[in-house]
Amino acid sequence: MAIDAIEQIKSFTSADYVGALRRVEPTENQLEMLRVHLSAPDHTLTARHLARAVGFAKWNAANLHYGKLAGKLCNELNVAPTTNLSILVEFFKASGSEYELCLRPSVIEALRELGIGGQGTWSFQEEWGIEKPLVEGTSFTVQVSAFERNPVARQKCVAHYGTSCSVCGFNFGATYGGSAEDYIHVHHLKPLASIGEEYVIDPIKDLRPVCANCHAVIHLRQPPHSIEEMKNMLRDNENAQLYDRNPAA
Ligand SMILES: [Zn+2]
Ligand SMILES: [Zn+2]
Repeated sequence: MAIDAIEQIKSFTSADYVGALRRVEPTENQLEMLRVHLSAPDHTLTARHLARAVGFAKWNAANLHYGKLAGKLCNELNVAPTTNLSILVEFFKASGSEYELCLRPSVIEALRELGIGGQGTWSFQEEWGIEKPLVEGTSFTVQVSAFERNPVARQKCVAHYGTSCSVCGFNFGATYGGSAEDYIHVHHLKPLASIGEEYVIDPIKDLRPVCANCHAVIHLRQPPHSIEEMKNMLRDNENAQLYDRNPAA
């Protein structure tokens, strides 16, 4: 890559990156990668660790998402697109080891200003408009949990169904009060195999609020238990327990 492109990148301020990031509107996968990268020690990770941390089986899949984001940022900031990931990171290599990717200082500052990785994540999402379709990137390698963590989809699901568990009715706020108010997991119903390339989440059809216990049991099996199955399991087991206590009934 040309030296002058790197010099140009080094001259970018956090404000440059804030503007560019707002305009390119990163996907949830890309945001998740930025979050993981930001929270890594010294904001530095090997590509393999980054891929694993965001739930991609292979670095290729992660690279595709990060690379697309880098390409768009290059475009916004008028840098030759061949600079690829250098717009976001500096590469280091200790002898004999893998390359490490270190987020650039202005990128780190910009991510913090935008609230990525911190509590401001939701308002950042909101600014981008919650009414547009929630397109999730590509393929079978994306873990279901990425859909379940999508803050916009989550919010819509909870606004529709409330914060009580769809299986057992448990409500964190009612039980624990205080900081547990409004806490709930969101489960994604669609089996991975049915998810195509440009999958659009329908937060009402595809997501359900569930408590942490039910969520854990749902995922004990592959494919996961359906909500109906879970309700039946609960009911059957309750009946069995009743019978155990009172066999004459
Ligand atoms: Zn539950
Ligand atoms: Zn789930």
